[in-house]
Amino acid sequence: MSTTQSAPAQLGPGATIGILGGGQLGRMMAAAASRLGIRAHIYAPEATSPAFDVAAHHTVGSYDDAAALKRFAAAVNCITYEFENVPAATVAVLKDRIPVRPGERALEVCQDRLREKELAVSVGVATAPYADISNFGDLKAAIAALGCPCVLKTRCFGYDGKGQFVIRDLSQAETAYDAIGRQPAILEGFIDFTREVSVVAARGLDGAFKAYPVTENEHRDQILRRSVAPARLHPKTIQMAMSAAEGIGRALDYTGVFAVEFFVTGAGKDEQLLVNEIAPRVHNSGHWTQDGAETSQFEQHIRAIAGLPLGATTLRAPRVEMVNLIGDEVLNWPNLMAEPGCQVHLYGKGEPRPGRKMGHVVRLLQA
Ligand code: AMP
Repeated sequence: MSTTQSAPAQLGPGATIGILGGGQLGRMMAAAASRLGIRAHIYAPEATSPAFDVAAHHTVGSYDDAAALKRFAAAVNCITYEFENVPAATVAVLKDRIPVRPGERALEVCQDRLREKELAVSVGVATAPYADISNFGDLKAAIAALGCPCVLKTRCFGYDGKGQFVIRDLSQAETAYDAIGRQPAILEGFIDFTREVSVVAARGLDGAFKAYPVTENEHRDQILRRSVAPARLHPKTIQMAMSAAEGIGRALDYTGVFAVEFFVTGAGKDEQLLVNEIAPRVHNSGHWTQDGAETSQFEQHIRAIAGLPLGATTLRAPRVEMVNLIGDEVLNWPNLMAEPGCQVHLYGKGEPRPGRKMGHVVRLLQA
């Protein structure tokens, strides 16, 4: 028999929010919660999780340890997560006991690139042309239909360009399919985009919607390197990005902060937006909001899942930039701290390995 607790509609000071995942996103959510008088309880498998440092409570447990998950659910007022690959079985154990926000539907859709694309299309938002790949025959047919170059992506568990292969001609089909482990996949047409942008937005428990200004994102080695807000886009494109995010949030019956990443093609009034990915969580391209917006994305997420009013999303400067500190770049922290107006955020991770996100800086720019 399930032991569903009825959570109060609104959580306030003294409440405890459970967070699945102990990385930097969980850490920054926990810190934001504490400013509102709300405690965080982090649940993560790694004993040295960076989020443990700033949380009132933590549990070291695996995502398939039903007994530990039940104890966790009994100790918190609401559960959220910092990563989209939370196993469905984990949520199944938790959701009958305590509200999990955002809900299962967001995870189901955002864990699978095919469902994500189908959702975007269902709300009238364009994506790159794509095909569903279940076997090698599908792949050959899809390459013929979409043309080269094209991008083969695993449907699940891909991030920062992992689980992807750019196919330049048909002779690479076999190599590409092997490279992604012959898993269920999608093939996408290669988009010759002019820039990549994202909308970080929040939906409250009552359905209220607030988005931050569109952010322009630069990647290096497929890892986000720099974000600048607001993006330089035609006003019509900004409007399209906002309504796409609002439609996607509504279709997912979403509660919390989420990000929609887009490719931009064309220029000026001919700009077009294609949805690339939907992240059901706070997002690296929203880190600039910590110092550059009235309400940080982390506080906004806590407000949303706690049933509190959403905060203002307006900029605190004409432009704001966020630069990730990746690997050894973090060793420059003393100089960055000495730089006037440079806000340094470090994640408390140990070893600065190549490609590892160690921290970021935010700068408020005048133009
Ligand atoms: P993703 O994991 O889907 O966000 O892809 C990582 C990066 O690869 C994106 O930020 C793009 O820079 C690039 N990329 C992914 N899909 C495509 C595509 N269909 N066309 C061109 N570039 C792509």
